[in-house]
Amino acid sequence: MSASPRVAVVGTGVIGAMTAWRLARRGAEVLAFDTYAPGHDRGASAGESRIFRTVYKEGAEYVPLLRRSARLWRELERDTGSALLTLCGGLTIGPPDDPDVVAVRACAEDCGLDHEVIDAAEAATRFPQHRLDPDEIAVFDPAAGVLRPEPAVQAALRAAETAGARLVSYQRVDDVTETASGWRVSTAEARHDVDHVVFAPGPWARRLAPLRKLPVRARLITACWFAARDVAAHRTDRLPIAIRRHRTAGFSCFPSLDGVSIKIVPHHLGWPELGDPDDLPRTADVEFVRGASSAAERLLPGVVPHPIRIGTYVEGFTPDDHALVGPVPGCSNATVLTGFSGHGFKLAPVFGELAAELVLTGTTSHDIDTLAPSRFA
Ligand SMILES: Cc1cc2nc3c(=O)[nH]c(=O)nc-3n(C[C@H](O)[C@H](O)[C@H](O)COP(=O)(O)OP(=O)(O)OC[C@H]3O[C@@H](n4cnc5c(N)ncnc54)[C@H](O)[C@@H]3O)c2cc1C
Repeated sequence: MSASPRVAVVGTGVIGAMTAWRLARRGAEVLAFDTYAPGHDRGASAGESRIFRTVYKEGAEYVPLLRRSARLWRELERDTGSALLTLCGGLTIGPPDDPDVVAVRACAEDCGLDHEVIDAAEAATRFPQHRLDPDEIAVFDPAAGVLRPEPAVQAALRAAETAGARLVSYQRVDDVTETASGWRVSTAEARHDVDHVVFAPGPWARRLAPLRKLPVRARLITACWFAARDVAAHRTDRLPIAIRRHRTAGFSCFPSLDGVSIKIVPHHLGWPELGDPDDLPRTADVEFVRGASSAAERLLPGVVPHPIRIGTYVEGFTPDDHALVGPVPGCSNATVLTGFSGHGFKLAPVFGELAAELVLTGTTSHDIDTLAPSRFA
């Protein structure tokens, strides 16, 4: 490959955007394609807010990646003059024997991460926005916070363009074919010959022939916003992000960023599979709304428990809920990053960095063996 290889990035959600940024600043000639435009709301990288956590219930092996990601979020903020990550702390709330509560405590202890275990009485004083049963606890992660997804995608692509990347928006890649010297990428408007392809198509992975066999399923995730009675008590300076686990419900909870409402993403009402990501419904059914409202009424005493806004999004999931990151099985000069299974946003900068390393050097300094796409081959 030449000193400044020509690289196509297919998809500019958060993962493709970060990959384009890290590749371009290392001198690659980047062409970044998307069916839509940066910051759109039809995939996985939209919806006003995303959780950043360091004490990671999904596994201690992610902690080095999360630490590096936190530094890269700050670098992107500096490079683009954007405010993207607010460290407001994070809570995992539930019964002490809940699997998520057990997992965050184990991760914090195994990795020596700062955290506090708070009983229900103390939580009632410090975080009255949440109602806990007397036998529940909260685990506080001071290095957690909230990210702003749409500005983050746009900032990464702005930084990529500043470093020389070319964005090709509103052009779906219809065909990607291996050639004698690399790949040919075709849209309805043009064909482009490149040395390497990075696939970052999110839930659309199986639409692309080289990825057809990867086990990525598109699932619908719905978010609801509830008006806060006292907005000041629900802003980032007083309300951490939270993963709420209760015997009757479960959700992620985000402080107010719009000055009106807080957002929850219910987990207990299911994330149904969509046959095709393009079949994303644009609202939720009444049963879903009733379930979300009843969780808010029971567990969030400071909100009006009827949503004032609903957002629907589609994410790619794998059978083990861990992403597929690495060389495309059976292909040369092709890298894939997909199937982030509901927890990829916070890690996007480090995945962009390691994708750039894989393209430019064939290897990466980060330990991602457990994410190899070949594990399902
Ligand atoms: C509602 C919701 C809440 C979440 N909460 C969190 C959270 O709190 N914290 C966290 O860390 N993670 C969270 N996640 C997960 C995280 O947001 C995703 O893992 C991440 O956004 C995935 O980004 P992506 O770039 O892989 O996918 P996407 O954002 O879907 O991007 C894929 C892009 O590829 C484009 N594309 C696809 N096929 C083609 C083609 N053939 N040609 C051209 N373009 C193409 C699409 O248009 C799209 O723009 C959440 C996800 C959802 C949906």
